Amino acid sequence: MSNTIENVIIIGSGPAGHTAAVYAARADLEPLMYEGFMAGNVAAGGQLTTTTDVENYPGFPEGIQGPQLMDEMRKQSKRFGTRIKTETVAQVDLSRRPFRIRTESGDEVQARSVIIATGATAKTLDLPGVSRLWQKGISACAICDGALPLFRNKPLVVIGGGDSACEEALYLSKFGSEVHMLVRRDQMRASRIMQQRVQDNDKITVHWNTLPVEVLGDELVSGVRVKDKHSGEQRDITAGGLFFAIGHQPNTAFLEGQLESDEVGYLITEPDSTRTSVEGVFAAGDVKDHVFRQAVTAAGSGCMAAIEAERWLAEQSD
Ligand code: FAD
Ligand code: NDP
Repeated sequence: MSNTIENVIIIGSGPAGHTAAVYAARADLEPLMYEGFMAGNVAAGGQLTTTTDVENYPGFPEGIQGPQLMDEMRKQSKRFGTRIKTETVAQVDLSRRPFRIRTESGDEVQARSVIIATGATAKTLDLPGVSRLWQKGISACAICDGALPLFRNKPLVVIGGGDSACEEALYLSKFGSEVHMLVRRDQMRASRIMQQRVQDNDKITVHWNTLPVEVLGDELVSGVRVKDKHSGEQRDITAGGLFFAIGHQPNTAFLEGQLESDEVGYLITEPDSTRTSVEGVFAAGDVKDHVFRQAVTAAGSGCMAAIEAERWLAEQSD
């Protein structure tokens, strides 16, 4: 293990990690970032590397391609001196200071403070047709993709019965000709108010006890084959788009429960702050946010984490 003690180590390389890096580097903290190597099943740069047009990140009136946006953020981090290692953090020891961090290749480093920005992975189903038609009418983020011309005035399918599924179905009802929600049980997990809104919306049809079997289409999605959970009977729903809304998995397994988290694994931070349950450890972006999950909110909390880390480090050296 190196004897050097880093001021701040940033784990993760999405909008939260890179914004934290820019702020920490400009504050002369000389941050070290572990950007991950296919961690959480996404490339370095995070979830936006898996999408095409990003139309809601301010500063790009014509939109920007997700991978390009992340490339620009990476350049900006490096411009101010962030050192970036393309490695995945396998383990951390947050029980004593300096904190210890070990990568998958066995490197060990010590740090005075840590910013965790490892994101969350949208759950999808490995149905026939999904990998072939991914991004050709299939998405795991209606708020991100729903307004694209591809989905306008087409029948759309949402899988899931939680608050996200309801929210996405309601959002998609503004763009699609109709929305079909596939709910695998005879009831929804969603809150009462969200269920009521779905029920009150004429464009949404809920299909109870219904499981997706296959995504249909050649070049683009043309429908979804579904089956009744009880009878096993199959039928096809015509659709120009399919949206997974079956939950997300925050990338926190490597923390092995050392930070307070909710039952799903999202890190818990103090209100209006990125401070976690361990002093000197901060969390930013989707890894601590199951509500907004947007690039701009992730970037905002990355900025907060760097400022909080800087202030905390200054207090320690007083
Ligand atoms: P992420 O972007 O998830 O990045 C986390 C990074 O950490 C990843 O690179 C991962 O590999 C790395 N990592 C994980 N574990 C480790 C580890 N142990 N060690 C090292 N590295 C690790 N939002 C919008 O605002 N507009 C959009 O148009 C939009 N479109 C989207 C389209 C799709 C298909 C998806 C899936 C999401 C979209 N989003 C969009 C949401 C947006 O991508 C996320 O809110 C945002 O990327 C979250 O940023 P983050 O920095 O918290 O995490
Ligand atoms: P949830 O875990 O709450 O719901 C996931 C849904 O997907 C459930 O209906 C679940 O069914 C279904 N599902 C899971 N796996 C499958 C599968 N393999 N096939 C078919 N269906 C499946 O996730 P959400 O993302 O909806 O919500 C996460 C958290 O965020 C919740 O606390 C929620 O309240 C909150 N949230 C709040 C919002 C708001 O208040 N406006 C908006 C969005 C999220 P089953 O019930 O059978 O397990």
